[in-house]
Amino acid sequence: GHVDNPYVGAKGYVNADWSTKAAAEPGGSRVANTSTAVWIDRIAAIAGTSSAKGIQAHLDAALAQATGGTPVTIQFVIYDLPNRDCAALASNGELKVSENGLARYKTEFIDPIAAIMTDPKYDSLRIVNVVEDDSLPNLVTNLSMPVCAEANSSGAYVQGIQYALNKLHKGNIYNYLDIGHHAWLGWDSNFGPAVTLLTNTVKGTTAGFASVDGFISNTANYSSLTEPYFTINTQVGGQSIRQSKWVDWNMYVDELSFTQAFRNALVTAGFPSTLGMLIDTSRNGWGGTARPAGPSTSTDVNTFVNNSRIDRRIHAGNWCNQSGAGLGERPRATPATGIDAYVWIKPPGESDGASQAIDNDQGKGFDRMCDPTYTGNSLNGNNLTGALPNSPLAGTWFSSQFQQLMTNAYPAL
Ligand code: BGC
Repeated sequence: GHVDNPYVGAKGYVNADWSTKAAAEPGGSRVANTSTAVWIDRIAAIAGTSSAKGIQAHLDAALAQATGGTPVTIQFVIYDLPNRDCAALASNGELKVSENGLARYKTEFIDPIAAIMTDPKYDSLRIVNVVEDDSLPNLVTNLSMPVCAEANSSGAYVQGIQYALNKLHKGNIYNYLDIGHHAWLGWDSNFGPAVTLLTNTVKGTTAGFASVDGFISNTANYSSLTEPYFTINTQVGGQSIRQSKWVDWNMYVDELSFTQAFRNALVTAGFPSTLGMLIDTSRNGWGGTARPAGPSTSTDVNTFVNNSRIDRRIHAGNWCNQSGAGLGERPRATPATGIDAYVWIKPPGESDGASQAIDNDQGKGFDRMCDPTYTGNSLNGNNLTGALPNSPLAGTWFSSQFQQLMTNAYPAL
């Protein structure tokens, strides 16, 4: 049967492909047994490769992990839309709108995934799908970019997602769509249009609102769960912290407040009140020696915010392999009102993108937001990128990042 929250009373699937890499790092055994998502990021990932299990092998392994009558929740990321990652280059994919990408997405990607996942053999598993990160948020904010404009005007993103939701609608399958993060959709001018686009996309599926169980924020991002030393209502020296350069008139300062507000807006837009949210906490811990121990005493709003915030990024628009980040909250169910679970969707230790161009057959490009020497653009306030040096292609193991994530874990390991 379909439960309200698939994380309650369940055990999280441990992906041995990731776990083995984590355990091979010095100190890695402290986290190697954590449940992380399996990314189906190209057609070849469905069947698997010599170095990564395919979907069927993961589901069989999940059945084997179900012991003592406790159900297992296994998380997949469905990630291969045509014109994928349209506003950046690091995770561009193999399918293009202009090369019949939507039709290929349906028949070569979603159909075979659905055929495996809906096999009655797996009925006892709770299968969670995070469907196409970043895609619909990009249609809200990045239509000035030609690749996003094409993903929008062709209908490829919306129709691809609707097709996926229709095919993956089954009692033991739980689907979540992406809402970016607070420093992306937190401004009113983005928030409202995002709620509308997500609502209309889901309403256009066969099962309507019943085809999703909820939404996820902060996927593969670094935004902190809470800023312990200020809220959106904090005033400093007679000024709102919204006026600081860091907050930049956003309506939210952290992921928990943003995600709960987004949930409320979706319920107001028509989603059932059972709607549950997920927050990716894999890399938003921000512990370690640079973490402020308390609020700043400065009466200058910028100094106050910069010395009080636990998110130590140079700019909240920075997203690639962020220097100083730590592992965040370990996955757990029902951590806060309206939140189904804190989850580790981005497997810690897997790169967000290469710091220089690397030849590959996955369609991945070189995004300068992954280059620590790049001085930025309007999307990050023309700041340095804060990316760690010498990073490999998106999705591949990045040992030095994993080490830093463990060092700066919060809660500490
Ligand atoms: C990459 C995927 C990878 C995923 C998880 C994404 O940025 O594009 O290939 O599977 O991260 O590491």
